[in-house]
Amino acid sequence: MAEVLKGMTVANAMKERLTAENTALIAAGVTPCLAIVRVGERPDDLAYERGALKRFEGLGIAVRVMVFPEDVGQDEFESEFEKINGDGSVHGILLFRPLPKTLNEEDIIKKIDPAKDMDCMCETNIAKVFAGDESGYAPCTPEGVVELLKYFEVPLKGSKVTLVGRSMVVGKPLAMLLLKEHATVTICHTRTADLAAECRAADILIAAAGAAKMIKAEHVKEGTVVIDVGINVDEDGNLCGDVDFDAVEPLASKITPVPGGVGSVTTSILAMHVLRAAGKTVNR
Ligand code: NDP
Repeated sequence: MAEVLKGMTVANAMKERLTAENTALIAAGVTPCLAIVRVGERPDDLAYERGALKRFEGLGIAVRVMVFPEDVGQDEFESEFEKINGDGSVHGILLFRPLPKTLNEEDIIKKIDPAKDMDCMCETNIAKVFAGDESGYAPCTPEGVVELLKYFEVPLKGSKVTLVGRSMVVGKPLAMLLLKEHATVTICHTRTADLAAECRAADILIAAAGAAKMIKAEHVKEGTVVIDVGINVDEDGNLCGDVDFDAVEPLASKITPVPGGVGSVTTSILAMHVLRAAGKTVNR
C-alpha cells in the first residue's frame, strides 16, 4: 500500500515558520499584505480565493480582495491595477487568469511590478525560474510540488522524473525547478509517442495534464512516487486528479490524493512569497 502524501501535513509544518516571520515583520513595522485581483465570479477563482483567505487568516497575514465586474473596460481596469501596483502597503499581487476575452491580458501582465508578482506571471520572474535564479518568484504550484517532495524526503538528485504536461503554469517551470534539484527530467505532452513507456521509466511521475484519471496502472512501475497536480471533475461530478488513484495506488510507493494533495501546499507557498516580498521592504 502506498503512503498517501497529504498536502495539509506540509502546510501545517510550514505554518509555524510563516507565522513567526509574519510576526517579526509586523514588529519591524511592515504589515505583509496580499492583494487578490479578481474579474468576474469564475467558480475555480472563487474556490482558490476561499482557500487562500482561509490559509492567510490562519497565518495572520492580511489580504485585500479587489473584485471587478466581468465587463470592466481595459482603461478602467489598467488604471485600478496601476493603483494596486503602486500601493506601498500591498506587497504581493495575485491576479486570477485567464481574464475575460474583452481584456488584453498581455498588456496588464506587462504592468505588474516583478517584486509584487507572486505567481510568476511576468517575463522577469519567468526568466529567473529558467535561469535558476531564486531572487524572483516561481509559480506557486510547481514550487509547492518541490516543497512537498522535499518534505516527504523523496530523493530528487539523480532521480528520473517524468512530467505529463508542458504548460507555462505548471509543466515547464516545474521541470526547471526539478532540474535545479539535479533530477533528470522528461517532459511529456499530447504528441509524446509512447506516454506509458515514458511514465514507466520514472522514479517520480508527476501528472499535470488536466485530463481526469488519465494515468492508469499501465503508466506506473512498482515503487514509483506519483504526484497528481490535476484538478478535474469526473463523470459523476466529483473532484478528481489526472491519476486514477484506485488503479495506481497499489503500485506506487507514495501518492498524492486529489483533493488534499498538491493544492493544499500552493497557498502556503503564496504566503511564503508575500512574506519574502514584504521582507524586502523593511527599512526601505
Ligand atoms: P494546460 O491545459 O495548460 O496544459 C496541459 C498540458 O498537459 C499540456 O501540455 C498538454 O499537452 C498536456 N496533456 C493534456 N492531456 C494530455 C494527454 N492525454 N496526454 C499527454 N499530455 C497531455 O493545463 P495546466 O498546466 O494549466 O493545468 C494542468 C492541471 O493542473 C489542470 O488539471 C489544472 O486544473 C491543474 N492545476 C492545479 C493547480 C494546483 O494548485 N493544484 C494549479 C494549476 C493547475 P499539449 O501541450 O501537447 O497540449
